[in-house]
Amino acid sequence: MKNLSTPSRPQPTHPLAAAPVTAPEATVDGFVEQFLRNLNNGRGVALSASTPNDRYFALAATVRDYLMARWLEDVRRQRTAQSKGVAYLSAEYLLGRQLDNNLLATGLTEIAGEALAACGLDIDEVRALEIEPGLGNGGLGRLAACFIDSLATMGVPNIGYGIRYEYGIFRQTFVDGQQVEQADSWLSLGSPWEFPHPEAAQTISFGGHTETYDDDGVTRSRWIPAWNVQAVPHNYMVPGYHNGRVNTLRLWSAQATQGFDLRTFNSGDYQEAVRAQTYAENISKVLYPEDSTPQGKELRLQQQYFFVAASISDFVNLILPRDFDLTRLPERVIFQLNDTHPVIGVPELMRVLVDERGLEWDAAWAITRECFAYTCHTLLPEALEVWPSDLLGRLLPRHLEIIYRINDEFLDEVRERYGDDEDRIRRMSIIAPDGAVRMAFLATVAGSKVNGVAELHSQLLREKVLPDFDEFFPGKFTNVTNGVTPRRFVKLANPGLSRLITDTIGPGWLTDLERLRELEPFADDASFRQAFASVKAANKRALAKTLHARDGLTVDDGHMLDVMVKRLHEYKRQTLKLLHIVSQYDAIVSGRVSPAEVTPRTFVFGAKAAPGYAMAKRIIHLINAVGEVVNTDPRVEGRLAVLFPPNYNVTLAERVVPAADLSEQISLAGKEASGTGNMKFALNGALTIGTDDGANVEIRQLVGDENFFLFGMTEPEVATLADGGYHPIDFVRADENLQSALDLISSGAFSGGDGSVFEPVVSNLVHHDPFMALADFTSYAAAQQKVDALYADTEAWTRSAILNVARSGFFSSDRSMRDYIDRIWHTPPVR
Ligand SMILES: *Cc1c(COP(=O)(O)O)cnc(C)c1O
Repeated sequence: MKNLSTPSRPQPTHPLAAAPVTAPEATVDGFVEQFLRNLNNGRGVALSASTPNDRYFALAATVRDYLMARWLEDVRRQRTAQSKGVAYLSAEYLLGRQLDNNLLATGLTEIAGEALAACGLDIDEVRALEIEPGLGNGGLGRLAACFIDSLATMGVPNIGYGIRYEYGIFRQTFVDGQQVEQADSWLSLGSPWEFPHPEAAQTISFGGHTETYDDDGVTRSRWIPAWNVQAVPHNYMVPGYHNGRVNTLRLWSAQATQGFDLRTFNSGDYQEAVRAQTYAENISKVLYPEDSTPQGKELRLQQQYFFVAASISDFVNLILPRDFDLTRLPERVIFQLNDTHPVIGVPELMRVLVDERGLEWDAAWAITRECFAYTCHTLLPEALEVWPSDLLGRLLPRHLEIIYRINDEFLDEVRERYGDDEDRIRRMSIIAPDGAVRMAFLATVAGSKVNGVAELHSQLLREKVLPDFDEFFPGKFTNVTNGVTPRRFVKLANPGLSRLITDTIGPGWLTDLERLRELEPFADDASFRQAFASVKAANKRALAKTLHARDGLTVDDGHMLDVMVKRLHEYKRQTLKLLHIVSQYDAIVSGRVSPAEVTPRTFVFGAKAAPGYAMAKRIIHLINAVGEVVNTDPRVEGRLAVLFPPNYNVTLAERVVPAADLSEQISLAGKEASGTGNMKFALNGALTIGTDDGANVEIRQLVGDENFFLFGMTEPEVATLADGGYHPIDFVRADENLQSALDLISSGAFSGGDGSVFEPVVSNLVHHDPFMALADFTSYAAAQQKVDALYADTEAWTRSAILNVARSGFFSSDRSMRDYIDRIWHTPPVR
């Protein structure tokens, strides 16, 4: 059979064929011509007969055409240059819509708008058709998307590797206030942004057994797998902002292997052949919708190995030259492990080096330890991934052997250092007492560096989660505080603010976000404050329009917009916010305060709950139930409103964040590793009410105490309370507003008189709640009074909001990338 995947090199004689195509002319005429060509030749329709989807595809293809020559050049450079690049391994990429971002990167936004208008089309209608690829759950996946944007913008060679899930994060709807999940068939109309390369598929094996054999007097191991699947790469462009650079995101899709099916088919069992095909293709079928609580399912391990093995093979066998000396691999690549999901890559690289390439174990281990680095994203013990060894051994028998050997040699070193301190050895073993493989330990032992994602998180990681390892590997642990891309989350999401900033300090801030500092003096300029406030007001009106069209919701634009959008999790404490709303409602209906005394506020929630997380789903139900009552009770006189638009995603975030006045970041101290939502809000001029947790700590230090509403226990206070035994009832007794709010829920006021409906939520808060929501209630309510007081002084509030923007430049993901490069990767930009 012909080799379809190795490029054969043509010898062109025509001068045009020597280089990639040139981009179309960057004019309205050039754009119109290319757009119509794509519509006619690419979609096979005339403009007059085109559907909205045809136009969207043709527009996307046109933007692609402008990027193509640069992309091909960067891919060539990646293969031929001697420089080191980043292979970012992430099971999730929460990309958001592509069209606007790619238009922005090319600087074609205005030309495209005019070109479509010249064709009698409204570009806003066309862009609204794009379904965002929801290939992630929340912060972790969005972080990966921000990082690859920054690397491209900084000109750092990078390939993002991940999984092309056929179904991304579920689409959330509400039925009677309760979450109902629908499949996210984001590919049903196709995606114009991907380039599939089935001819370059990798074979990925599973199962079977291992055996040893004699290789010229040396005993070697090999893996005899039982079955395999094909990993088909789908390439996506990752354009830098206005710098002519385009990196690659390579997502793998699973397909049944031909040979495998044929064997079964030839044996006469057609049904079995089809079943096998379905089984193989299941691997990339759906994103696991759990956020922070891994389920330990076999299919999940299959997904992890599938994409990591394909990615390592892609880099080692296809990107590097055929004769590359693998002892020099660390000079060419760093594999960054985004959480523990890709950690199976560690034994996989060992297997490739030792079993396939014949390197000695010690040499291979030295290479492997230099080629990986690990980012930890959690402090929740239940979120640290472990794999039962029987499952791992059944699916990846050779990898389990390799892990055992890594562990044996590591524990020998521990013994050498500490003697027979069996307690310590048990604590540090990659294999837990019950035989499970602790993936975070494996990553820590193998990684050249281990980083947390905010200062506080990195400190707690060293002191509480992995203290033995910190002691054993001095200098291995470091911090890189997360960041967000200002291109998407300021420039695209908030064009009004972007214009105001550029008019005030010039355009350089978008790639040098610390320059926002130059806005500081303008906080004291009344006319700037007015301009800033009118941008915020316009953003609120725009959000009102969006929510009305999208969900039939009404936003009163005279209200303060108080926003809590993020995954629904008990540690994030949506219940704390809800209790405060209920207590304000309670104060009005019980006559303790008159509606006129209450600051008019609209509370916006956005949150998906993992489908199997019953408590989280009950909390969603309760939020909706409270909204039903509060929004329609005439005694409230419209002073309070609770809105919960379903299906919070990146597209909605881009609308909600720029409109927010108040950002709710109220996790229990010590539980939120970093948060990135908090950064998006501060950069868009919302003030934060927050605990001393994650990156909130750094936000507060930078924006100043007077521009941040701090409340709640600190992490050491939480630890002390937990040690002494947390008794929520003490906090209920000490705060009659809290008592009364809980009673109101228990009375059935939000469940048609039936108190039993939300009893599990109340009971959990009052009796168990490891996240101690009630302990922070009194302090939270007091901080909310300070919010009201400052909000009443419009000028002072706006001044604080401006200072939040001016002092948040640190939270650009460009800065995160610089920190990774300096502290971990050592991959300078390539000009
Ligand atoms: C930024 C973002 C998140 C992360 O929010 P946190 O508040 O940091 O948990 C989650 N989902 C989406 C859609 C986001 O854009």
